[in-house]
Amino acid sequence: TVITNHMPTAELQALDAAHHMHPFSTQDDLAKQGARVITRADGVWIQDSEGNKIIDGMAGLWCVNVGYGRDRLADVAARQMKELPYYNTFFMTTHVPAIALSQKLAELAPGDLNHVFYAGSGSEANDTNIRMVRTYWAEKGKPSKKVIISRKNAYHGSSVGSASLGGMTGMHAQGGLPIADIHHIDQPNYWAEGGDQSPEEFGLERARQLEQAINDIGEDNVAAFIAEPVQGAGGVIVPPETYWPEIQRICDKYEILLIADEVICGFGRTGNWFGSETVGWRPDIMTIAKGLSSGYAPIGGSIVSDEVAEVIGGCEFNHGYTYSSHPVAAAVALENLNIMQEENIVGHVQNEVGPYLKEKWEALIDHPMVGEANIVGMMGSIALTPHKESRAAFAADAGTVGYMCRERCFANNLVMRHVGDRMIISPPLVMTKGEVDVLMERAVKSLDEGM
Ligand code: PLP
Repeated sequence: TVITNHMPTAELQALDAAHHMHPFSTQDDLAKQGARVITRADGVWIQDSEGNKIIDGMAGLWCVNVGYGRDRLADVAARQMKELPYYNTFFMTTHVPAIALSQKLAELAPGDLNHVFYAGSGSEANDTNIRMVRTYWAEKGKPSKKVIISRKNAYHGSSVGSASLGGMTGMHAQGGLPIADIHHIDQPNYWAEGGDQSPEEFGLERARQLEQAINDIGEDNVAAFIAEPVQGAGGVIVPPETYWPEIQRICDKYEILLIADEVICGFGRTGNWFGSETVGWRPDIMTIAKGLSSGYAPIGGSIVSDEVAEVIGGCEFNHGYTYSSHPVAAAVALENLNIMQEENIVGHVQNEVGPYLKEKWEALIDHPMVGEANIVGMMGSIALTPHKESRAAFAADAGTVGYMCRERCFANNLVMRHVGDRMIISPPLVMTKGEVDVLMERAVKSLDEGM
């Protein structure tokens, strides 16, 4: 049989459960319940096999920044596939899509971040970073500088290396992670963990855990610190203002490379091209993926400073993926960045739809189930709580309330994500104010139905 969109949904679901293993899913549930079959998408809307139009409050997986249905990206991909569908940049070869995209990224990235090493995804890019920073210090005659400090509950990818950088214990438990020489400090989650401290004190205290860790491990053994400017999949945790400058001060003082994981925060999400600009960081390396191509083609990478590139350039860096610098993905990414510039999508987030969404999202704090409402640019979260004043968490069934809320949103044709009992949005950056109204209406309805 030929499998098409026109088959009955139940048949598609049965075939799916029989043969397709889903990421971050319980396969038995898929067999019982059946996955929703998504058939097409346009703008900020996805459509399922029953014809329902669902507003995508997550931009896919935080990635479809320019929205769905962009003919220009499809046309560029087709053109590039006909002209040069594949070639690599190993062993002294190159091609125009890689050259042009690298030049564009050097122009857009802050400071002296002028050099790009490509990967097929954010996970691969973070694996590159592990090897890159250790190689950097070895080349500088300090091979003992190997430890990378990260944060608990962080998400940096699913490969063995990137999941080790990540701080999710549920992931570490499967497959014997983390790998050696990765150390995790606490995340700056003021609402859940701030206790009686002021936000300012708490921000400093959490940042100074980095300094403590460097002192405990020994400055001569620490290579880098990795963090997202605003932690995304960890729950859109926005730290107090004091946190970010203190992190930068500590990295400077101890000569620790700062890796900003911009996989979510990059390409407009926080209201600037990069989250590092929003929080005032000067990273040595930025991890990029997702919004780089708005998800239209799989591509990620590491943008590195002049200094890091110069040191790495002194040796043969024995690292690369078959799909590093893939010409079709690079051409699509470049066209995506052109669209972002021509339509001033970063300005739209900063001055137009971002402030509008912020006002509506922060008003959710008045809802009886909401203990905290956070938003930066177009990534936001709310913490669900049974008791606002004490900042209580839901008891033994942690995560269940969030899961049920997500299910209600989905039934109401809104995609929101849950992380434990936090609900998250990260919609396409091209969303209009009218579409924000639809999103908010469905979000409030889904919260009300949980009362
Ligand atoms: N880093 C961050 C901050 C992410 O959110 C993700 C994915 O969600 C990754 C890395 C991994 O990227 P990928 O899924 O493309 O491997």
